[in-house]
Amino acid sequence: MELRELGKTGLKLSNVGFGASPLGNVFGTVSEEQAIGSVRLAFQSGINFFDTSPYYGGTLSEKVLGKALKALGAPRNEYIVATKCGRYKEGFDFSAERVTRSIEESLERLQLDYVDILQCHDIEFGSLDQIVNETIPALQKLKEAGKTRFIGITGLPLGIFTYVLDRVPPGTLDVVLSYCHYSINDSSLQDLIPYLKAKGVGIISASPLAMGLLTEAGPPQWHPASPELKSACQAAATHCKEKGKNISKLAMQYSLLNKEIASVLVGIRSVEQVEQNVAAARELATSGIDEEALSEIEAILKPVKNQSWPSGIQRS
Ligand code: NAD
Repeated sequence: MELRELGKTGLKLSNVGFGASPLGNVFGTVSEEQAIGSVRLAFQSGINFFDTSPYYGGTLSEKVLGKALKALGAPRNEYIVATKCGRYKEGFDFSAERVTRSIEESLERLQLDYVDILQCHDIEFGSLDQIVNETIPALQKLKEAGKTRFIGITGLPLGIFTYVLDRVPPGTLDVVLSYCHYSINDSSLQDLIPYLKAKGVGIISASPLAMGLLTEAGPPQWHPASPELKSACQAAATHCKEKGKNISKLAMQYSLLNKEIASVLVGIRSVEQVEQNVAAARELATSGIDEEALSEIEAILKPVKNQSWPSGIQRS
């Protein structure tokens, strides 16, 4: 598995990252046995980066991931764990007091002494000025205390990243995690990459399958895309299937192509999905992407290209 540098952290992340939100049953039920088997196979296949949050499944994802990592019996420095703070089943709370308590709770559930990355989760739902003036300084203290090695922010609208990065001293933030903005239907993160590089932050891109839009099975009920976007993606998936190709493989490979992105976090719920996503990465490295299928899919998705959906507090 290819390893890529994460900004200035010195961390080398596998280009395929294990998104553990499915372990919180957010895309359907996943047994503990299945979860443990998936994490084990992922690690054995060279995936060293695991992402979770107290929000996923109301703490379930962290608990199951913790158990699965422990079952690996591997030295702690051989895997990289990211979790988040500020978003919970009960709602959002980005106060210094809550996020400071949050990491202790996460560490207990994960059965770890420290995490590698702690991120403010979906900051567009909070006050960005509170994130700058209160939450990030609290995370810096947690970093100094050794609870986390690096800190970052996550969310959907790309403007949140520039808002925060323009208001904190250089070097304050180590990482940004963007999602649903670097896949075949929406690659708007691309334009922000030079800015993020100039700010010295590492880039993680999540949801290469657009949270299920770019799969044969289609997205879950709760998916926030417009009916127009959903049906365009469904048409793209059907087109691929008719040609004997798999849209998810193509989508995963498309996201992996950009080497400025340290890791592409894909949500994994089974051993089969580990195998499929690892195979997609290996095939990309040896044979490249199927350009013909990609341009056909891009043509189908052109009318909805870069279409997103509202997320968080609507700001003027
Ligand atoms: P995704 O685009 O990775 O899609 C996940 C869905 O696709 C799941 O239903 C999964 O079972 C399925 N899938 C995975 N591999 C497949 C394959 N090869 N073929 C067919 N289906 C496949 O979306 P996601 O899970 O939302 O994102 C990935 C991860 O990124 C999350 O688990 C989470 O860790 C992280 N993430 C973070 C944020 C945030 O911080 N705000 C937001 C979104 C995602």
